[in-house]
Amino acid sequence: MRLHEYEAKEVFKKCGIPVPEGKVAFSSEEAVRVAKEVGLPLVIKAQVFVGGRGKAGGVKFAKNLKEVEEISDKILKMDIKGYKVEGVLVEKRLNIEKELYLGMTIEGSAGKPAVIVSSEGGVEIEETARNYPQRISSIQVNVFKGLKSYEARFLVKKLGLKGERLFKVSNILYNLGNLYRNYDALIAEVNPLVITTEGEIFAADAVLQVDDSSLFRHPELQAKAIERIPDELEREAKNVGVTYVNLDGDIGLICSGAGLGMATMDMVRRKAKPANFLETGGGMTKELMAGALRVVMKKKNIRAVFINVYGGINPIHEGAKGVVEVIKEDKIKVPIVAKALGNRQEETWGILEEGGVKVVKESRTSKAIEELFRILKERE
Ligand code: GDP
Ligand code: MN
Repeated sequence: MRLHEYEAKEVFKKCGIPVPEGKVAFSSEEAVRVAKEVGLPLVIKAQVFVGGRGKAGGVKFAKNLKEVEEISDKILKMDIKGYKVEGVLVEKRLNIEKELYLGMTIEGSAGKPAVIVSSEGGVEIEETARNYPQRISSIQVNVFKGLKSYEARFLVKKLGLKGERLFKVSNILYNLGNLYRNYDALIAEVNPLVITTEGEIFAADAVLQVDDSSLFRHPELQAKAIERIPDELEREAKNVGVTYVNLDGDIGLICSGAGLGMATMDMVRRKAKPANFLETGGGMTKELMAGALRVVMKKKNIRAVFINVYGGINPIHEGAKGVVEVIKEDKIKVPIVAKALGNRQEETWGILEEGGVKVVKESRTSKAIEELFRILKERE
Protein backbone atom coordinates (compact mmCIF):
# COMPACT_ATOMS: atom_id res chain seq x y z
CA MET A 1 0.00 0.00 0.00
CA ARG A 2 1.40 3.32 -1.05
CA LEU A 3 0.46 6.39 0.93
CA HIS A 4 0.02 9.86 -0.42
CA GLU A 5 2.74 12.34 0.47
CA TYR A 6 0.46 14.14 2.93
CA GLU A 7 -0.42 10.84 4.64
CA ALA A 8 3.22 9.75 4.74
CA LYS A 9 4.15 13.11 6.27
CA GLU A 10 1.65 12.59 9.09
CA VAL A 11 3.40 9.30 9.87
CA PHE A 12 6.84 10.91 9.58
CA LYS A 13 5.87 13.67 11.94
CA LYS A 14 4.58 11.16 14.48
CA CYS A 15 7.90 9.32 14.25
CA GLY A 16 10.07 12.35 14.91
CA ILE A 17 10.93 13.40 11.37
CA PRO A 18 10.20 17.13 11.01
CA VAL A 19 8.00 18.11 8.06
CA PRO A 20 7.06 21.59 6.81
CA GLU A 21 3.80 23.09 8.02
CA GLY A 22 0.97 22.42 5.61
CA LYS A 23 -2.29 20.66 4.81
CA VAL A 24 -3.95 18.79 1.99
CA ALA A 25 -6.74 20.40 -0.05
CA PHE A 26 -9.13 18.89 -2.54
CA SER A 27 -10.35 22.06 -4.24
CA SER A 28 -8.77 25.41 -5.08
CA GLU A 29 -11.07 27.15 -2.56
CA GLU A 30 -9.88 24.81 0.15
CA ALA A 31 -6.28 25.45 -0.94
CA VAL A 32 -6.82 29.18 -0.44
CA ARG A 33 -8.24 28.56 3.02
CA VAL A 34 -5.18 26.47 3.93
CA ALA A 35 -2.90 29.16 2.47
CA LYS A 36 -4.43 31.79 4.78
CA GLU A 37 -3.84 29.49 7.73
CA VAL A 38 -0.27 28.50 6.88
CA GLY A 39 0.96 31.79 5.46
CA LEU A 40 2.80 32.76 2.26
CA PRO A 41 4.97 31.95 0.35
CA LEU A 42 3.87 28.39 -0.31
CA VAL A 43 4.66 25.35 -2.34
CA ILE A 44 1.72 23.52 -3.93
CA LYS A 45 2.23 19.85 -4.64
CA ALA A 46 0.20 17.31 -6.60
CA GLN A 47 -0.91 14.35 -4.48
CA VAL A 48 -0.62 11.46 -6.88
CA PHE A 49 0.66 7.89 -6.66
CA VAL A 50 3.76 8.46 -8.74
CA GLY A 51 7.14 10.11 -8.27
CA GLY A 52 8.88 12.72 -10.39
CA ARG A 53 6.15 15.29 -9.89
CA GLY A 54 8.61 18.16 -9.81
CA LYS A 55 9.79 17.51 -13.36
CA ALA A 56 6.23 16.89 -14.55
CA GLY A 57 4.98 20.29 -13.36
CA GLY A 58 3.24 18.97 -10.26
CA VAL A 59 5.23 21.07 -7.75
CA LYS A 60 4.83 24.85 -8.00
CA PHE A 61 5.46 27.92 -5.84
CA ALA A 62 2.85 30.53 -4.97
CA LYS A 63 3.65 34.03 -3.70
CA ASN A 64 0.08 35.26 -3.22
CA LEU A 65 -3.46 33.91 -2.80
CA LYS A 66 -4.33 34.47 -6.45
CA GLU A 67 -1.45 32.22 -7.43
CA VAL A 68 -2.51 29.65 -4.83
CA GLU A 69 -5.95 29.49 -6.42
CA GLU A 70 -4.73 29.37 -10.02
CA ILE A 71 -1.96 26.85 -9.41
CA SER A 72 -4.04 24.47 -7.31
CA ASP A 73 -6.86 24.61 -9.81
CA LYS A 74 -4.43 23.70 -12.57
CA ILE A 75 -2.68 20.93 -10.62
CA LEU A 76 -5.97 19.41 -9.44
CA LYS A 77 -6.99 18.94 -13.08
CA MET A 78 -3.71 17.29 -14.02
CA ASP A 79 -2.81 13.72 -14.85
CA ILE A 80 0.80 12.79 -14.09
CA LYS A 81 2.21 9.81 -15.99
CA GLY A 82 -1.33 8.46 -16.34
CA TYR A 83 -2.24 8.91 -12.66
CA LYS A 84 -5.02 11.25 -11.63
CA VAL A 85 -4.06 13.99 -9.17
CA GLU A 86 -6.19 13.41 -6.07
CA GLY A 87 -5.43 16.53 -4.08
CA VAL A 88 -2.84 19.23 -3.47
CA LEU A 89 -0.57 19.59 -0.50
CA VAL A 90 -0.30 23.27 0.41
CA GLU A 91 2.88 23.75 2.36
CA LYS A 92 5.09 26.49 3.69
CA ARG A 93 7.86 27.13 1.16
CA LEU A 94 11.34 26.31 2.42
CA ASN A 95 14.45 28.29 1.55
CA ILE A 96 16.75 25.54 0.43
CA GLU A 97 20.44 25.61 1.20
CA LYS A 98 21.06 21.92 0.65
CA GLU A 99 19.09 18.86 -0.46
CA LEU A 100 20.00 15.43 0.92
CA TYR A 101 18.63 11.99 0.14
CA LEU A 102 17.64 9.41 2.79
CA GLY A 103 15.93 6.20 1.84
CA MET A 104 15.23 2.65 2.94
CA THR A 105 14.07 -0.27 0.88
CA ILE A 106 14.42 -4.04 0.75
CA GLU A 107 17.57 -5.22 -0.94
CA GLY A 108 16.14 -8.27 -2.67
CA SER A 109 19.40 -10.13 -3.23
CA ALA A 110 20.27 -9.91 0.47
CA GLY A 111 16.75 -10.27 1.80
CA LYS A 112 17.42 -7.33 4.12
CA PRO A 113 16.49 -3.69 4.32
CA ALA A 114 19.11 -1.31 2.98
CA VAL A 115 19.62 2.30 4.04
CA ILE A 116 20.71 4.60 1.23
CA VAL A 117 21.93 8.18 1.64
CA SER A 118 23.34 10.84 -0.63
CA SER A 119 24.58 14.39 -0.26
CA GLU A 120 22.96 15.16 -3.60
CA GLY A 121 19.26 14.72 -3.04
CA GLY A 122 16.56 16.27 -5.17
CA VAL A 123 15.00 15.60 -8.51
CA GLU A 124 18.27 14.42 -10.14
CA ILE A 125 18.91 11.55 -7.72
CA GLU A 126 18.56 8.91 -10.47
CA GLU A 127 21.21 10.68 -12.58
CA THR A 128 23.52 10.90 -9.56
CA ALA A 129 23.07 7.18 -8.92
CA ARG A 130 23.88 6.43 -12.55
CA ASN A 131 26.75 8.84 -13.16
CA TYR A 132 28.32 9.32 -9.72
CA PRO A 133 27.60 6.16 -7.74
CA GLN A 134 30.40 7.12 -5.32
CA ARG A 135 28.21 9.97 -4.06
CA ILE A 136 25.75 7.44 -2.71
CA SER A 137 26.40 5.35 0.39
CA SER A 138 24.42 2.46 1.73
CA ILE A 139 24.45 -0.24 4.37
CA GLN A 140 22.31 -3.29 4.99
CA VAL A 141 20.35 -3.52 8.19
CA ASN A 142 20.27 -6.51 10.50
CA VAL A 143 16.62 -7.56 10.44
CA PHE A 144 16.60 -8.52 14.11
CA LYS A 145 18.38 -5.47 15.47
CA GLY A 146 17.05 -2.76 13.16
CA LEU A 147 19.04 0.35 12.27
CA LYS A 148 21.37 1.30 15.12
CA SER A 149 22.06 4.92 15.98
CA TYR A 150 25.80 4.48 15.40
CA GLU A 151 25.07 3.06 11.94
CA ALA A 152 22.91 6.09 11.16
CA ARG A 153 25.72 8.40 12.31
CA PHE A 154 28.31 6.46 10.29
CA LEU A 155 26.25 6.98 7.11
CA VAL A 156 25.46 10.62 7.76
CA LYS A 157 29.15 11.38 8.33
CA LYS A 158 29.73 10.24 4.76
CA LEU A 159 27.48 13.09 3.62
CA GLY A 160 30.14 15.49 4.92
CA LEU A 161 28.00 16.81 7.77
CA LYS A 162 29.49 17.89 11.08
CA GLY A 163 28.46 19.26 14.46
CA GLU A 164 24.79 20.04 15.00
CA ARG A 165 23.83 19.05 11.44
CA LEU A 166 25.45 15.66 11.84
CA PHE A 167 23.58 15.21 15.10
CA LYS A 168 20.19 16.29 13.71
CA VAL A 169 20.34 14.36 10.43
CA SER A 170 21.61 11.20 12.16
CA ASN A 171 18.69 11.45 14.50
CA ILE A 172 16.26 11.80 11.57
CA LEU A 173 17.80 8.80 9.81
CA TYR A 174 17.61 6.76 13.01
CA ASN A 175 13.92 7.69 13.34
CA LEU A 176 13.38 6.69 9.70
CA GLY A 177 14.89 3.28 10.54
CA ASN A 178 12.44 2.82 13.40
CA LEU A 179 9.54 4.00 11.27
CA TYR A 180 10.53 1.51 8.57
CA ARG A 181 10.42 -1.31 11.04
CA ASN A 182 7.35 -0.28 13.02
CA TYR A 183 5.25 0.34 9.92
CA ASP A 184 6.39 -2.82 8.08
CA ALA A 185 7.51 -0.60 5.22
CA LEU A 186 8.80 -1.70 1.86
CA ILE A 187 9.96 1.79 0.92
CA ALA A 188 10.48 4.82 3.14
CA GLU A 189 12.16 7.75 1.47
CA VAL A 190 12.91 11.39 2.14
CA ASN A 191 13.97 13.16 -1.02
CA PRO A 192 14.85 15.85 -0.49
CA LEU A 193 15.72 16.23 3.16
CA VAL A 194 16.18 19.98 3.13
CA ILE A 195 18.63 22.03 5.16
CA THR A 196 17.22 25.55 5.03
CA THR A 197 19.23 28.76 4.86
CA GLU A 198 18.04 29.33 8.44
CA GLY A 199 19.72 26.06 9.44
CA GLU A 200 16.51 24.09 10.02
CA ILE A 201 15.97 20.60 8.67
CA PHE A 202 12.76 19.26 7.12
CA ALA A 203 11.58 16.31 5.08
CA ALA A 204 10.33 18.27 2.05
CA ASP A 205 9.02 15.10 0.43
CA ALA A 206 7.94 11.76 1.88
CA VAL A 207 7.35 8.38 0.29
CA LEU A 208 6.00 5.49 2.33
CA GLN A 209 4.93 2.12 1.03
CA VAL A 210 3.70 -0.46 3.52
CA ASP A 211 3.68 -4.23 2.95
CA ASP A 212 0.07 -5.23 2.20
CA SER A 213 0.49 -8.48 4.10
CA SER A 214 1.14 -6.51 7.27
CA LEU A 215 -1.95 -4.30 7.11
CA PHE A 216 -3.72 -6.34 9.78
CA ARG A 217 -1.14 -4.94 12.19
CA HIS A 218 -1.98 -1.36 11.19
CA PRO A 219 -5.76 -1.02 11.50
CA GLU A 220 -5.78 2.68 10.61
CA LEU A 221 -3.92 1.97 7.35
CA GLN A 222 -6.05 -1.06 6.61
CA ALA A 223 -9.19 1.03 6.97
CA LYS A 224 -7.69 3.57 4.59
CA ALA A 225 -6.78 0.85 2.08
CA ILE A 226 -10.35 -0.44 2.10
CA GLU A 227 -11.78 3.07 1.82
CA ARG A 228 -9.76 3.54 -1.35
CA ILE A 229 -11.33 0.63 -3.24
CA PRO A 230 -13.61 2.35 -5.76
CA ASP A 231 -16.13 -0.49 -6.30
CA GLU A 232 -18.71 -0.69 -3.51
CA LEU A 233 -19.09 -4.48 -3.56
CA GLU A 234 -15.34 -5.02 -3.76
CA ARG A 235 -14.99 -2.75 -0.74
CA GLU A 236 -17.60 -4.73 1.19
CA ALA A 237 -15.97 -8.02 0.24
CA LYS A 238 -12.67 -6.74 1.63
CA ASN A 239 -14.41 -6.10 4.93
CA VAL A 240 -15.83 -9.63 4.87
CA GLY A 241 -12.35 -10.98 4.19
CA VAL A 242 -12.78 -12.56 0.76
CA THR A 243 -11.25 -11.74 -2.60
CA TYR A 244 -13.93 -10.38 -4.90
CA VAL A 245 -13.88 -8.95 -8.39
CA ASN A 246 -17.05 -7.46 -9.78
CA LEU A 247 -17.96 -8.65 -13.31
CA ASP A 248 -20.84 -7.87 -15.63
CA GLY A 249 -22.76 -11.18 -15.67
CA ASP A 250 -25.62 -12.59 -13.61
CA ILE A 251 -24.39 -15.92 -12.21
CA GLY A 252 -22.99 -15.40 -8.72
CA LEU A 253 -19.96 -17.51 -7.81
CA ILE A 254 -18.38 -18.50 -4.50
CA CYS A 255 -15.27 -20.65 -4.71
CA SER A 256 -12.54 -21.70 -2.33
CA GLY A 257 -9.19 -21.19 -4.01
CA ALA A 258 -8.34 -18.85 -6.85
CA GLY A 259 -7.54 -21.69 -9.26
CA LEU A 260 -10.86 -23.41 -8.63
CA GLY A 261 -12.53 -20.00 -8.93
CA MET A 262 -11.01 -19.24 -12.31
CA ALA A 263 -11.71 -22.72 -13.70
CA THR A 264 -15.32 -22.41 -12.51
CA MET A 265 -15.67 -19.00 -14.15
CA ASP A 266 -14.39 -20.39 -17.45
CA MET A 267 -16.88 -23.26 -17.35
CA VAL A 268 -19.83 -21.00 -16.48
CA ARG A 269 -18.74 -18.68 -19.28
CA ARG A 270 -19.59 -21.32 -21.91
CA LYS A 271 -23.28 -20.69 -21.39
CA ALA A 272 -23.65 -17.54 -19.29
CA LYS A 273 -21.72 -14.69 -17.73
CA PRO A 274 -20.34 -14.79 -14.19
CA ALA A 275 -21.46 -11.87 -12.02
CA ASN A 276 -18.22 -11.98 -10.06
CA PHE A 277 -15.09 -13.79 -9.11
CA LEU A 278 -15.07 -14.67 -5.43
CA GLU A 279 -12.45 -16.59 -3.54
CA THR A 280 -12.88 -17.40 0.14
CA GLY A 281 -9.25 -18.03 1.01
CA GLY A 282 -8.24 -20.59 3.58
CA GLY A 283 -9.97 -19.15 6.63
CA MET A 284 -13.53 -20.26 6.00
CA THR A 285 -16.02 -19.75 8.83
CA LYS A 286 -19.79 -19.57 9.05
CA GLU A 287 -19.57 -15.76 9.18
CA LEU A 288 -17.21 -15.57 6.23
CA MET A 289 -19.50 -17.63 3.98
CA ALA A 290 -22.56 -15.70 5.14
CA GLY A 291 -20.79 -12.43 4.33
CA ALA A 292 -19.64 -13.78 0.96
CA LEU A 293 -23.15 -14.83 -0.07
CA ARG A 294 -24.54 -11.46 1.03
CA VAL A 295 -22.00 -9.60 -1.11
CA VAL A 296 -22.77 -11.79 -4.12
CA MET A 297 -26.52 -11.30 -3.69
CA LYS A 298 -26.20 -7.50 -3.44
CA LYS A 299 -26.14 -7.32 -7.20
CA LYS A 300 -29.65 -6.76 -8.47
CA ASN A 301 -29.67 -9.06 -11.49
CA ILE A 302 -28.37 -12.32 -9.94
CA ARG A 303 -30.15 -15.32 -11.58
CA ALA A 304 -28.42 -18.09 -9.64
CA VAL A 305 -25.50 -18.74 -7.33
CA PHE A 306 -22.99 -21.50 -7.79
CA ILE A 307 -20.86 -22.53 -4.81
CA ASN A 308 -17.76 -24.59 -5.51
CA VAL A 309 -15.75 -25.36 -2.40
CA TYR A 310 -13.19 -27.88 -1.38
CA GLY A 311 -12.71 -28.97 2.21
CA GLY A 312 -9.00 -29.37 2.64
CA ILE A 313 -8.05 -26.90 5.34
CA ASN A 314 -11.42 -25.18 5.07
CA PRO A 315 -14.23 -26.41 7.35
CA ILE A 316 -16.89 -26.53 4.63
CA HIS A 317 -19.56 -27.73 7.07
CA GLU A 318 -19.15 -24.42 8.93
CA GLY A 319 -19.36 -22.53 5.63
CA ALA A 320 -22.56 -24.43 4.80
CA LYS A 321 -24.19 -23.14 8.00
CA GLY A 322 -23.46 -19.58 6.94
CA VAL A 323 -25.00 -20.13 3.51
CA VAL A 324 -28.16 -21.65 4.94
CA GLU A 325 -28.50 -18.86 7.50
CA VAL A 326 -28.45 -16.20 4.76
CA ILE A 327 -30.94 -18.10 2.58
CA LYS A 328 -33.35 -18.12 5.52
CA GLU A 329 -32.76 -14.61 6.89
CA ASP A 330 -32.56 -12.81 3.57
CA LYS A 331 -35.27 -14.97 1.95
CA ILE A 332 -33.21 -15.80 -1.10
CA LYS A 333 -35.34 -16.98 -4.00
CA VAL A 334 -32.79 -17.63 -6.77
CA PRO A 335 -31.50 -21.19 -7.11
CA ILE A 336 -28.27 -22.01 -5.33
CA VAL A 337 -26.28 -24.99 -6.56
CA ALA A 338 -23.29 -26.30 -4.64
CA LYS A 339 -20.45 -28.67 -5.23
CA ALA A 340 -18.75 -29.26 -1.88
CA LEU A 341 -16.17 -31.98 -1.54
CA GLY A 342 -13.58 -33.02 1.00
CA ASN A 343 -13.41 -33.19 4.74
CA ARG A 344 -16.87 -33.73 6.34
CA GLN A 345 -18.62 -33.55 2.99
CA GLU A 346 -21.63 -35.68 3.98
CA GLU A 347 -22.34 -33.41 6.93
CA THR A 348 -21.98 -30.40 4.64
CA TRP A 349 -24.39 -31.86 2.08
CA GLY A 350 -26.96 -32.50 4.77
CA ILE A 351 -26.83 -28.92 6.03
CA LEU A 352 -27.04 -27.45 2.54
CA GLU A 353 -29.88 -29.69 1.35
CA GLU A 354 -31.90 -28.98 4.43
CA GLY A 355 -31.45 -25.27 3.74
CA GLY A 356 -32.72 -25.59 0.17
CA VAL A 357 -29.45 -25.76 -1.75
CA LYS A 358 -29.21 -28.16 -4.67
CA VAL A 359 -26.11 -30.24 -3.91
CA VAL A 360 -24.31 -31.96 -6.76
CA LYS A 361 -22.33 -34.87 -5.39
CA GLU A 362 -20.07 -35.17 -8.42
CA SER A 363 -16.35 -34.64 -8.45
CA ARG A 364 -16.50 -32.79 -11.76
CA THR A 365 -17.39 -29.11 -11.72
CA SER A 366 -18.72 -29.30 -15.28
CA LYS A 367 -21.43 -31.73 -14.12
CA ALA A 368 -22.51 -29.38 -11.36
CA ILE A 369 -22.68 -26.47 -13.78
CA GLU A 370 -24.82 -28.55 -16.17
CA GLU A 371 -27.20 -29.08 -13.28
CA LEU A 372 -27.24 -25.35 -12.57
CA PHE A 373 -28.25 -24.57 -16.16
CA ARG A 374 -30.81 -27.37 -16.16
CA ILE A 375 -32.48 -25.81 -13.13
CA LEU A 376 -32.40 -22.37 -14.69
CA LYS A 377 -33.97 -23.71 -17.88
CA GLU A 378 -36.68 -25.44 -15.90
CA ARG A 379 -37.56 -22.12 -14.28
CA GLU A 380 -37.95 -20.22 -17.55
P1 GDP B 1 8.98 14.82 -6.59
O1 GDP B 1 9.53 15.48 -7.82
O2 GDP B 1 7.73 14.06 -6.89
O3 GDP B 1 9.98 14.00 -5.89
O4 GDP B 1 8.52 16.00 -5.62
P2 GDP B 1 9.31 16.76 -4.45
O5 GDP B 1 8.40 16.97 -3.33
O6 GDP B 1 10.59 16.10 -4.14
O7 GDP B 1 9.60 18.19 -5.08
C1 GDP B 1 10.46 18.34 -6.20
C2 GDP B 1 11.47 19.41 -5.96
O8 GDP B 1 10.84 20.64 -5.71
C3 GDP B 1 12.35 19.18 -4.75
O9 GDP B 1 13.44 18.34 -5.02
C4 GDP B 1 12.81 20.59 -4.41
O10 GDP B 1 13.94 20.93 -5.18
C5 GDP B 1 11.63 21.43 -4.86
N1 GDP B 1 10.88 21.85 -3.67
C6 GDP B 1 9.93 21.15 -3.01
N2 GDP B 1 9.49 21.84 -1.93
C7 GDP B 1 10.20 22.99 -1.91
C8 GDP B 1 10.22 24.13 -1.05
O11 GDP B 1 9.50 24.23 -0.06
N3 GDP B 1 11.09 25.13 -1.36
C9 GDP B 1 11.92 25.06 -2.45
N4 GDP B 1 12.73 26.07 -2.71
N5 GDP B 1 11.92 24.02 -3.27
C10 GDP B 1 11.09 22.98 -3.02
MN1 MN C 1 10.91 13.95 -4.09
